[in-house]
Amino acid sequence: MNNPDLEGYIAEIFSSIQGEGGTVRGSCFGKRQIFIRFSGCNIANGAFKSTGCFWCDTPQAQIMETEYLNYEQKPCSQEFERMKNPVKISEIIQIVENLITPDLHSISLTGGEPLYQLEFISELIKALNYPLYLETNGSIIPFENDLKELAKYIKYCCCDIKDKSSMAALLFNWENLVNNELEFISKMIHYGVETFAKIVVTSQTQIQDIQWISKKLSEIKYSNGEIVGLAIQPVSLENEDLKDKYSISISHLNEIFHTSAEYLNPENLTLSIQAHKYLKLL
Ligand code: SF4
Repeated sequence: MNNPDLEGYIAEIFSSIQGEGGTVRGSCFGKRQIFIRFSGCNIANGAFKSTGCFWCDTPQAQIMETEYLNYEQKPCSQEFERMKNPVKISEIIQIVENLITPDLHSISLTGGEPLYQLEFISELIKALNYPLYLETNGSIIPFENDLKELAKYIKYCCCDIKDKSSMAALLFNWENLVNNELEFISKMIHYGVETFAKIVVTSQTQIQDIQWISKKLSEIKYSNGEIVGLAIQPVSLENEDLKDKYSISISHLNEIFHTSAEYLNPENLTLSIQAHKYLKLL
C-alpha cells in the first residue's frame, strides 16, 4: 500500500448484489459486489449550475464532508457500525476484507461521485486487490496521465448519461455535460476499460435527445469494432407526486428503445432496472 494513511470521505461500505446495468458489455448486473460509496458530488455542488439530479437516491452522499462512514461489519448482515470521517485507506481495506464472501465478483466504487476525490480514489484503487467497477456521472475528466493510470486499475465502468429531465444541468449547460460524459466513455474504452453508458429516462425524456445521444454513442467503439452498450433505466421514484409526474409509460419506453436501435444494434441495448430495490437488498 503506497499511502495507507491518506484520508477521504466515504458514506457507506456494504456487501450486496449489483441491481443495475442489464446485459451489455461492462455490466456487472446480478454479481455480488462490495459497494464503497464515496461522499460528495460535483453535479450536486453546482458544476453544471444545478443542485443535482432530482431523482438522486443517495442525497446523503451528495455532501462531501459526511460526518460518519456507515459500514457493514459482517457481509449481508445489513447491520451497520459507524466510523468518523475522514477515513484512512488502511481502515477501508480492513472493512472490505471483513466483507469478502466466496461469491464476491468485484468492488463497486460508487457515490456521490467517486472521481470528485480524485487523489484519494487514485491511491485507494491501488490497494484494492479485486476487480473494480466504477460508477460515475462521467463529468469529471482527469488529466490524460491521471486517467490512464486510473484506467489501469478499473476493469468495468458504468457511466451515466444525464437526460435533460434529470436536471443535472441547467438547460444551457446540458449539452456540455453530455459531451463530457461521451468523452469520458470514449477515453475509458480507449484505455481498455469495459465501459457502458446508462441513461435514466422519465416521462419528460425527449425522443430527439435519445436520437442525438444514441448517434454519438454509435461512434464510440472498442478496438474490435464493437459499439459501446447503452442501458436504459426507467426512473424509479418513491415520492408519490414525483412518481405521477415523471414515471415513464410503456409506450414511451418502447419508443426510446426503437429510437436508440436506429443507431445501436440490439446487442448494444438493454433494459436496466434497480433490481436491488425490488428485492429490498441494500
Ligand atoms: S450525479 Fe449521482 S450523486 Fe450526483 S446528484 Fe446526480 S444521482 Fe445524485
